[in-house]
Amino acid sequence: MYFDYAATTPVLKEIKDNAYQLLTKYENPSSLHIKSKEIKDEIELARDKIAAFLKTTSDHIFFTSGATESNNTAIKGFYFNNKEIKQHYFTSLIEHPSVIEPIEYLNCFSNFSSSYIPLEIILNPYELEKEVLFKSPTFASFMMANNETGTIFPIKEIASVLTKHGTYLHVDATQAIGKINIDVQELDVDALSFSGHKIFAPKGIGVLYLKDPSSVAPLIHGGGQEKGLRCGTENVFNILALKIAINYFTTHFTEIQTHYKKCRSRFLAKLNTTGIEYILNETNGLVNILSIRFPMKGDALADILNFKYNTMISVGSACSSNKNEKKLSHALKNSGLMDHEIQKTTRISFGLETSLTDIDNLVKNINNVLAVYH
Ligand code: PMP
Repeated sequence: MYFDYAATTPVLKEIKDNAYQLLTKYENPSSLHIKSKEIKDEIELARDKIAAFLKTTSDHIFFTSGATESNNTAIKGFYFNNKEIKQHYFTSLIEHPSVIEPIEYLNCFSNFSSSYIPLEIILNPYELEKEVLFKSPTFASFMMANNETGTIFPIKEIASVLTKHGTYLHVDATQAIGKINIDVQELDVDALSFSGHKIFAPKGIGVLYLKDPSSVAPLIHGGGQEKGLRCGTENVFNILALKIAINYFTTHFTEIQTHYKKCRSRFLAKLNTTGIEYILNETNGLVNILSIRFPMKGDALADILNFKYNTMISVGSACSSNKNEKKLSHALKNSGLMDHEIQKTTRISFGLETSLTDIDNLVKNINNVLAVYH
């Protein structure tokens, strides 16, 4: 049983059913053959769909290899586009490494500096404005929802403070996509990133929305694809697969949210009937992510569930497991948790395939593990 949808999601049945047909489209979209032109048109239809999903038009949508590349493009691309001026960036300490690391990288340039803004300031528009007036940031990158806790950032309020003072706002919406209705115009953000594999499309496809496509310099130069912003022969299969996923979310958005809510409340209701002690790290976060502490070490609980019960939950983000040092999660630490609380934390996330029976079995398995090992 899989409860790690925040790490990645399985590919939608509608994509698998069409995969063979999509893979037969091998012609290069940039060639002059009739078939190539047809494929190029299909890519543009996919762009239109994604634009409509974000409530914008297709000239603002760029395909990338994933949110990591989209984040890097916005963060470094904005700097390189304005490198003759002094730059100061704002971000938070609970961002994904694909935001923190490019900003850390830019710190090696002499006209660049950055500040990590504490969560309580970001969440308070009055305090945030004071910080903006004090440091005059040129650029800010804040996530729409955190990948470990599910904490939701009030992007509309943040954007109204930043745009008032001319700060460019990039938003990492990788976890929020498909769970929060995103209207880029209403939010009034300058750039927004996400990855397809969090919404049941394959891995290796991402999107970067840019209000002003000329606001960032390209990181990948070459044959002029994606209007020169991201060169390289298009990943046709993944782009068309993402279109199918976006179509699915456009048509079923409300029922998907109802399903997530049902999963969450069933899980908590079941837990309550067992008498298992637990604490939620975030009570107001994304509907499909639970950051939750049980009375035993989170990594031990996750391992036993995996090996003994074939049940997959997580202790944090999948990405941090690539780093060799065994450090406690920076996102949980900077969300205000003590070390012993972080050690007990697990992340349980639900998806389209999660059934109420799976949830009942998950609670049963957690109960069994706690009964033996707690
Ligand atoms: N941002 C957030 C909030 C994420 O959760 C992730 C993936 N875990 C990323 C960015 C990076 O996405 P990808 O690995 O698909 O590039």
